[in-house]
Amino acid sequence: MTRRSNKNFDRGKMPKLFGTDGVRGVTNKDMSPELALGIGLAFGTWLKKSNKKRKVLVGSDTRTSRDMIKFAFCSGLLSTGCDVIDQGVLPSPALQYSIKHLKADAGAIITASHNPPSFNGIKLVEPTGIEMISRDLEEIEAIYFKKCFAFAGWDEVGKISRWEGGTRVYIDAIKSRVDLEAIRKAKPKVVIDCANGAGAVCAPYLLQELGCEVVSLNAQPDGLFPCHEPEPLKENLKELINQVRTQGGTAIGVAHDGDADRAIFITEDGSYLYGDKTLALVAAHEIKKNKGGLFVTAVSSSTCVEDVVKKKGGEVLYTPIGSPVVAHEMLRQKAVFGGEENGGLIFPELQYCRDGAMAMARILEIMAKSGKSLKELAAEVPTYSLTKTKVHCPQEKKEKTKQRFISEMKKEGVPIQTIDGAKVQLKDGWVLVRPSGTEPIFRIFSEAKDPETSRKLSQKYKSKVEEIIAEI
Ligand code: MG
Repeated sequence: MTRRSNKNFDRGKMPKLFGTDGVRGVTNKDMSPELALGIGLAFGTWLKKSNKKRKVLVGSDTRTSRDMIKFAFCSGLLSTGCDVIDQGVLPSPALQYSIKHLKADAGAIITASHNPPSFNGIKLVEPTGIEMISRDLEEIEAIYFKKCFAFAGWDEVGKISRWEGGTRVYIDAIKSRVDLEAIRKAKPKVVIDCANGAGAVCAPYLLQELGCEVVSLNAQPDGLFPCHEPEPLKENLKELINQVRTQGGTAIGVAHDGDADRAIFITEDGSYLYGDKTLALVAAHEIKKNKGGLFVTAVSSSTCVEDVVKKKGGEVLYTPIGSPVVAHEMLRQKAVFGGEENGGLIFPELQYCRDGAMAMARILEIMAKSGKSLKELAAEVPTYSLTKTKVHCPQEKKEKTKQRFISEMKKEGVPIQTIDGAKVQLKDGWVLVRPSGTEPIFRIFSEAKDPETSRKLSQKYKSKVEEIIAEI
């Protein structure tokens, strides 16, 4: 199976404001109302390029600063003549689905996803429901910095209205895309940890309607995130793991991040299932269902996903890191499935964005129809060992270091991909060396069949990058 070309990627100059997942920072420090207002003004001005009436959907996760950031941002939009529909608190994928449902011209999500409670952020969304990427964001950023805002006349400023049907519409859309009867018949027991985030207004209700026996944890929306930080890491899910073990039998656990676009699973024996395993087991199912097709993921994803996709007759396309890039490429190439290794799964039959609730429903469907437990399904995915490390590197040395690393690898005759950073393919695994977009570091990921080889590769290539940095 040949890989498709990646030559069409053009991320351009990295924006200064927007990272791979929008703008984020500490509330009232980096993420201030002034910044939110400025982004609202710039986004509204940019949207004005199209002549039609502009309708923008806005929603948020549960953070304490949600109203402060949201209304500052909305004020900017209204000032440029955009109308705003405020959807309140809802999962990011529910808002993204609503954009298509209401035929809106754009959307924005006030969220810092999995970041600590002190953070907040803004993600801008296209009419397709996909988060915006580099080129458009650079234009918006240029408007922001030049302050060339297109203020509306006093009689043309926008109006704000409220619509809270987004979660309902989203739940119905998910239910219509799974075998409801099969799940209801299996009557799975699910412990859901909503992390006090946006998933609290959706996941327990969806599970109930799917006919599950539901145990809800941290299902009160609370922006202080009193239970644990809203990142579904193993160390944050002790309560969920204990609860799954207490329930016993075939009960599984599910955890969302703060804006519920990701889902992490706990198998019936209380084991934490890493996101790459979930991605692989759903990928196997989607490729089989479609009798082949294209699967898209970021270059950092585990080989276990490629293994199962190829085994089922599918094709793999790697992209730069960042779920909006994966989603855009999926749409462009008509992929049947895609996602990231962090529990962010993208189902084109519903929409082109990471979707925590859809991932949950699909896993329950796969379990119900196969008659297998989650542990059994996960065991069908090969296991690899990933080691992550980093090396300090001053900003001004990053590009030269990367180029030197690439040329040295080429001299050694090692196969290398430069989709994002430099990924070397070795006989016993792979290593990805990638400069961080925001910090003065190189991240080094190494993967092999066993932990010892993975660690050795990590040490070897860490030293190599350190040597290059010292020489430059
Ligand atoms: Mg998220």
